[in-house]
Amino acid sequence: MDDRDGVIWLDGQWVEWREAKVHVLTHTLHYGLGVFEGIRAYHATQGTAVFRMQEHTDRLFRSAHIMNMKMPFTKDEINQAQRDALVKNQLDSAYIRTMCFYGSEGMGLRADNLKVHVMVAAWPWGAYLGAESIEKGIRIRTSSYTRNHHNSTMCKAKANGNYINSILALQEALSNGYDEALMLDHEGFAAEGSAENLFIVRDGKIYTPETTSALEGITRDTVMTIAREQGYEVMEKRITRDEIYVADEAFFTGSAAEVTPIRELDNRTIGSGSRGPVTEQLQALYFDAVHGRGDSHADWLTYVA
Ligand code: PMP
Repeated sequence: MDDRDGVIWLDGQWVEWREAKVHVLTHTLHYGLGVFEGIRAYHATQGTAVFRMQEHTDRLFRSAHIMNMKMPFTKDEINQAQRDALVKNQLDSAYIRTMCFYGSEGMGLRADNLKVHVMVAAWPWGAYLGAESIEKGIRIRTSSYTRNHHNSTMCKAKANGNYINSILALQEALSNGYDEALMLDHEGFAAEGSAENLFIVRDGKIYTPETTSALEGITRDTVMTIAREQGYEVMEKRITRDEIYVADEAFFTGSAAEVTPIRELDNRTIGSGSRGPVTEQLQALYFDAVHGRGDSHADWLTYVA
């Protein structure tokens, strides 16, 4: 990742990709307290557009607020950097990573002289779970790792340290031959995937877990909005793993994962064992939205040039 041409925005300056480095005593590297975003830009009908950029930037600031990090830039400055990262790196579709982290100004948990640094990088990134998964769906297993608790690291913040929990779950799933993990909350209800929100479809109705132990996903919100516009009833409720076993359809959502069908959980086939009709419809509408096809939700796209 580090050895490539291009530029990265770091604290207001454009730095050569290979030179965008930090010191080994970087506080966030030691303790994991930082916040970040993962955003996608698509080659849309009228050019390159960032999808729901303002909502991502708003969430970044909410994450920083939860973690008590003082943002040294305004939302407009971050938005400008995110747009410029595409232009300067000549990307017509990309994944954008924005992160706020504490520097190496001090060490130890009591350090009180820490500066908040901000970086924005962008690079091309295809289907997160593989191109085939978008069509065929993935096989997942219930994780032995419980999802972060809202009274420990807090799930409304997209915080760096929260991803220890995600990576442990994902590695467990992958090493056992599955594509992703299903993470349960402390009470045993489905929370989310390692980096995706969960949906199920039963008898034509759509259900998704509340966000007590899951990130407030922007793709989740997009899919809920699109589904309701199609007349579907969409409900947030507690979902048990056996409810997923007997669901007609299940899928994950995320900026990286987009809308990915789930065809199997814990070796139980879900529905027909392939992408279901509701998933397929919502997935198509999602791809229309991100590419600016049709007139609805033009406000979700920020064209960069
Ligand atoms: N949950 C977690 C833990 C995530 O990391 C992500 C990816 N940001 C999501 C859900 C999906 O969120 P979004 O749709 O905003 O990308």
